[in-house]
Amino acid sequence: MDEVKLYINGEIRPSSTGEMVDSIDPSNGELVSKVHIPSTQDLEEAVQSAKTAFYSKEWRDMDQVKRSEILLKVSELIKERKRDFIAAEIKDSGSTFRKAAADIHNSASFFKIMSKVTAGFKFEEVDEKATRAGFSKNTRRFEPIGVCAQIIPWNLPLQMAAWKIGPILATGCTTVLKSAVETPMTAMMLAEVLIDAGVPKGVVNIVTGGAKEGAFLVNHKDISKVAFTGSTEIGREILKQAANEVKNATLELGGKSPNIILDDADLDIAVDAALYAFLYHSGQACTSGTRLLVQEGIYDEFMTKFKERIAQVPLGPTQEKTTGLGPVVSKKQFDNVMNYINKTKEEGAKLIYGGEQELENGLDKGFYIKPTAFEITPDNTIWHEEIFGPVVGITKFKTEDDAINMANNSIYGLAGAVWSKNEDRALKIAKEIEAGTVWINEYHLLNPGMPFGGYKQSGIGREMGEEGIKAYLEVKHLWESDCNTREGKMWLDAIF
Ligand code: NAD
Repeated sequence: MDEVKLYINGEIRPSSTGEMVDSIDPSNGELVSKVHIPSTQDLEEAVQSAKTAFYSKEWRDMDQVKRSEILLKVSELIKERKRDFIAAEIKDSGSTFRKAAADIHNSASFFKIMSKVTAGFKFEEVDEKATRAGFSKNTRRFEPIGVCAQIIPWNLPLQMAAWKIGPILATGCTTVLKSAVETPMTAMMLAEVLIDAGVPKGVVNIVTGGAKEGAFLVNHKDISKVAFTGSTEIGREILKQAANEVKNATLELGGKSPNIILDDADLDIAVDAALYAFLYHSGQACTSGTRLLVQEGIYDEFMTKFKERIAQVPLGPTQEKTTGLGPVVSKKQFDNVMNYINKTKEEGAKLIYGGEQELENGLDKGFYIKPTAFEITPDNTIWHEEIFGPVVGITKFKTEDDAINMANNSIYGLAGAVWSKNEDRALKIAKEIEAGTVWINEYHLLNPGMPFGGYKQSGIGREMGEEGIKAYLEVKHLWESDCNTREGKMWLDAIF
């Protein structure tokens, strides 16, 4: 794809002004594509096309079985075109081959599971407990919220688009989705899939751009719901903007997730998993396990193995199947991460490994940073602030209560993990962690049938599972009177 255009009202077309920016491959600095930036007029057309589609009978009255079939078709088409999707995701976002392949697979699976959830969802149901013969029949009816603005970040471009568009197709809402300008390619390829899967025109519109384009959508009077994934800082802004018209808002924000290794954990697995937890996609995952808490009895043994294994993580060209660690997404992100590394050094934290750019083996043209580990305390900035790079802070703890207190010492609450061979012990701690997803002897894996989202400043609302569908629905109480005599309706006497 030489140019990434706009998908508005069922058509993939250029920006009306012809304004374009470059998208760069972060592994080598080469130009990947020219990206069309929507004008205000384009954005307005996108919102109006979503509005028209929302009020069209074709979309509103579509049976949930048909919606479910469309979702399944989308899943199948992504699978069919997976090679193209993988190649684009690698170049556009700096994903390694393995990470891109996993993302494309997960996106297809997400649509498939969404299809199942949609088929089985009870959009309308009489509440037998509330219903009383001779008085009332009470029905709970879920209806689509309306026209949505959906804004996604650059770290998992196709997956983030899938998480947003899945519930649109499931519920009968419509949307204007804005991809991150750094990584717009696979969202636009998804537009081609949606056309081929038979999604009616206007139901999904896809544009890209930055803060200006995002803010236009969030503030638009015809938008009823905002769904945002990105940093807590921008999430806060968006919530304030949405408050002006009391718009429904779902926010999936940042994290600083604790990864707790108890003294009875399987150390070989825990060490590899600790590396995977903070190095997956060069640490640019919202659930990254960036605070590694290790119990004192095994600390030295753990650290010996950790140092051995971190040195073996293969950095390399993103297309190579053997590469485990790629670049960060952009020069801006590279500078952010390096600033955090330098700040942590200045604060006097002990550097265990890395702490600098990777310049060997022809990687000097890309934004590669060596896997980096520090020993930190809650006094260090990186205990509290999300870096979004391949950097972990390691801390020793004594008791299980210490681990819980340390884990919860954060404004964030997106995810966390506990490693132990004793399930009861691990479960006790997992239940105390203030986070939306807590793994026991696992990391990063998500199940699209289950809810995902954050406690505290990691967000509001949930995506995926039934909760993810309900986030796009209003619930109506339908009251049908079963009392149709004047004498029976004695409450009318309150005014007579
Ligand atoms: P970001 O907040 O800078 O940008 C996210 C999106 O918002 C982009 O599309 C951007 O163009 C847009 N945007 C920026 N300013 C805006 C404004 N004022 N109004 C409207 N839109 C605006 O985040 P990022 O750097 O792209 O992504 C990294 C962040 O995303 C991290 O904090 C990460 O934790 C978070 N994230 C969270 C999840 C989750 O599910 N919780 C998943 C992935 C990423």
